[in-house]
Order: sequence, then structure tokens, then C-alpha cells
Amino acid sequence: MTPEPKILFEHNRAWAARMEHERPGFFTRLMAQQRPRYMWIGCSDSRVSANEITGLEPGEVFVHRNIANVVVHSDLNALSTIQFAVEHLKVEHIMVVGHYGCAGVRAALQGTRIGLADNWLRHIRDLKLRHRKRIDHLPPEQQEDVLCEINVIEQVGNVALSTVLQDAWERGQKITVHGWVYGLRDGLLKDLHVSMDDAASVVDTFRAAIKQYPRSTDGGGASDADTTFDSLDDD
Ligand SMILES: [Zn+2]
Repeated sequence: MTPEPKILFEHNRAWAARMEHERPGFFTRLMAQQRPRYMWIGCSDSRVSANEITGLEPGEVFVHRNIANVVVHSDLNALSTIQFAVEHLKVEHIMVVGHYGCAGVRAALQGTRIGLADNWLRHIRDLKLRHRKRIDHLPPEQQEDVLCEINVIEQVGNVALSTVLQDAWERGQKITVHGWVYGLRDGLLKDLHVSMDDAASVVDTFRAAIKQYPRSTDGGGASDADTTFDSLDDD
């Protein structure tokens, strides 16, 4: 074993000993059952760790991460994880959490080719195209932040429209999907006010959240009336 990974085992042994010393029975209790109230869908970025950011301990948050926190309707990995969280763990809150300074969002915005992930990030390039009138008129640094936020809002919509959430709400299960964004600069989470807790409010909540970003040709936002959730085009 090379020295670098070896030190992780040393850290691990020290951590396990400290936890057991400070809270006797910690691991025995966790072994019996996990009962997280939260599911976190976030970016794989090493700087955005669900537990540390939220002060949650092992056993308290169920996590799914991928490049740029994308939830695609045909992604069996994400959908299986969401289904397990909703139907078996019975989480009460699902948070889709993006972050400013996301390299995946930046690559999608700038059209940078980085490899196989270009195909994954195509989902975000499509969002940039769909919402171009809300993005293109902004200064470059603001474009990136806004696309990070719009990506979160869109992924909240995708989670809410999944068969898993639709079925859960249909049978009366209490579960809310939230959209947050994390600031690498200050370590703070921001709520994007796109929380959805039943099937009936999904479209209105989505539209209200997207309208937070004015179009260049809005003239005050009056023309937003034609914004539809399903439309491939935001015109
Ligand atoms: Zn990222």
C-alpha cells in the first residue's frame, strides 16, 4: 500500500476510536438500522460534502452524487437511489444541491470539451439553450451562477416529476423536494425557493422559481406568462 492511502486508514482508526469513546454504542446503534430523514442529491465535487456542510452525522443523510447534480429521467442509478430513499427509508426531504463554481456547469456553459462527460453535461447545455433569454444577456461570471441555480431548479422538477415522487404523493406520503445552492466562497447554503411537496403544485412552483431570472426582452417580466414547464423552448 502506498503511503497516501495508508494514512487514511490511520485517520479512520483514530476517528472510529474517538467516536466510540465520545459516544459509546454509536456504531452498534447505526448497525441496527439507518433512518435518515434527508436525501441529498449533489455534485461529486470534493469540496461539497453533504454531511459536513449540514452538520449531519453518519446515518442522518442518504446521498447520491454525480457530476453537476443532474437527475435524468432514464438514469437508473439516480432513480433507484431515490426510490430506495422514498419507499424504504421514508426520507421526508430530498435536497437537490448545486454549487457555485461548478466545473461541470462551467464546461456546459462555455462548451468546453472535457471527454466522456460532455455527453452527461449535454443535459445542462440543453438547459442553457432553453433558458438562453434569461442567461445570455448577463455578464459572464453571473451567467455561470445563474446556470448553476437554474440547473438545480430543473433537477428539482425532474425529481418531482419522477414516477417515484408522483407515486409517493399519490399515496399520501409526506415528502418535500428542495433546491439549494452552496457557496464555495463562504460555505453557506442558499434556498432557491423551489420546494415542492405535492404533485399539484409542481408546475406553478417551477414556473415561479424560473421567473426569478428576468429575460432580456421582458420589459419587467410581463411576457413570462407563456413560460411552460414542458416546453423545450423558453421563448
Ligand atoms: Zn460541481
